[in-house]
Amino acid sequence: MKLFKFLIIFGIVLFPGIKGCNHTNKSNIVKLDCSSFSRFTKVPGTPNIKLVSSRCSNDYQFKKEVVKSALDVFVNEYSESFDVSESLVWENLRDLKIEVSIIPRTVHAAFDINGNFLEDQVAVNGLAFSQDHIWVEIKTSQIWSSALIHELVHVIIWRQNKVHGDPDHEGEKFSGWTQKHTKLIKRVNNILLEAEI
Ligand SMILES: [Zn+2]
Repeated sequence: MKLFKFLIIFGIVLFPGIKGCNHTNKSNIVKLDCSSFSRFTKVPGTPNIKLVSSRCSNDYQFKKEVVKSALDVFVNEYSESFDVSESLVWENLRDLKIEVSIIPRTVHAAFDINGNFLEDQVAVNGLAFSQDHIWVEIKTSQIWSSALIHELVHVIIWRQNKVHGDPDHEGEKFSGWTQKHTKLIKRVNNILLEAEI
């Protein structure tokens, strides 16, 4: 009888764990068809942050409500890490245009996260074109695997110093990006992964 009870308890404890292994199946993307879906969408509940699709067909976009959830996590974590109010972080993202596509891009040159300069058809999964316009590649059906959070950090640095978004990250040629920024990105993406965002 005691053994039976143990097995029941063990079963109850074990099952949520098994179920938990299924996460990453939730899809947060939608297939595009501009006849029924606008290329431009406002992200609800944000200071005029817009989602833009690179193409009109044979492409995908993140669901706008899910982008809002990802931004909420980013703003909250940034605010705590850098000891600034959440409203100031939102203000630093005002009017941002987030372009999204499943089609990869290459650039002639780029810096890696350590500041090393890479040349010749460098594959990138995100770009900060300006302080108002970023591009993010859809890597899976969830946002945590994309460069969205990384590009948001470029935007905030760019809007703070007005001149550049610190393209060499932790490198020494440009200033702004610190280890703290890199850690913040990892932490936010882990939260998004756990939340299936
Ligand atoms: Zn970067």
